[in-house]
Amino acid sequence: MQRIADEALKYAKPFLSQGHTAGYIPELSKVDPNRLGLYIASNDGQCYKSGDFDTKFTLQSISKTVSLMLAVMDRGQDYVFNKVGMEPTGDAFNSIIKLETVKLHKPLNPMINAGAIAIDSLISGNTPEDKFRHLAGFYRKVFNNEQLNYNKEVYLSEKATGFRNRALANFMKDAGVLEGDVDEVVDLYFKQCSFEVDCKDIAFLGALLANDGISPSTGKEIVPKKVSRLVKTFMVTCGMYDASGEFAVKVGLPSKSGVGGGIVAVVPGTMGIGVFGPALDDKGNSVGGIKILEYLSEKLGLSIF
Ligand code: GLN
Repeated sequence: MQRIADEALKYAKPFLSQGHTAGYIPELSKVDPNRLGLYIASNDGQCYKSGDFDTKFTLQSISKTVSLMLAVMDRGQDYVFNKVGMEPTGDAFNSIIKLETVKLHKPLNPMINAGAIAIDSLISGNTPEDKFRHLAGFYRKVFNNEQLNYNKEVYLSEKATGFRNRALANFMKDAGVLEGDVDEVVDLYFKQCSFEVDCKDIAFLGALLANDGISPSTGKEIVPKKVSRLVKTFMVTCGMYDASGEFAVKVGLPSKSGVGGGIVAVVPGTMGIGVFGPALDDKGNSVGGIKILEYLSEKLGLSIF
């Protein structure tokens, strides 16, 4: 397994030159695009790592999986899906077009920016500070990392430039989809996107989902099985945005990417895989991360289909 992990990294490296770091968040464009790492956490406690597995990066859209679980646990599935749909969009992750054209103006799913922002308006708490504390506490449990916190520079960088996300939020407020104060909700979203992790942290999230919400290291239930199943289903249908179909064919694992360069992949019942490579393709997915997952899936026969 260690040999295959090292081979996967070697296989993926030459593809990095095809990608670029996320330029639309200024702080992310400063990251070295040649970084590449992976961490595999199996549910029986084995781990395998290669390359830049301990380099820190920000969660970005990977956070959408975690906040979705928290909102469903806080409010119940029916309430949440009254506000957000369950269908893939075929559009870019930050697209605004369908918000206006679909009836009810509900964002189509919780893995696009509009859906994730609507989800954040459902997180419990009386004040913005309460909400952040509640959300961060849950993230720390899910990633099994008490030190987890957000990167201030990346947060401020996105806060200073995130006009499209504000536009999505304002549109949804006008349409009666978004609850609460627009600026506060968007601020919570920017913070969750800026949580700083490494490959091990996201591999642990993958292993937790692979183990139906029970922590493989402590045996404690962190997420109910039903919620874990729900989020894995969205990862298959929408986790790689408008590349989810091709990814399902080539890799075949519930996965979620972020423009920080991370991808978490779940091998149900077996293991979580965390990969990091900040050079992104034009859909915002890690070029090297996808290649690593293609290699592992092929060599180890991991596709769930
Ligand atoms: N924070 C990013 C944004 O809202 C997250 C997007 C992503 O990772 N695809 O644009």
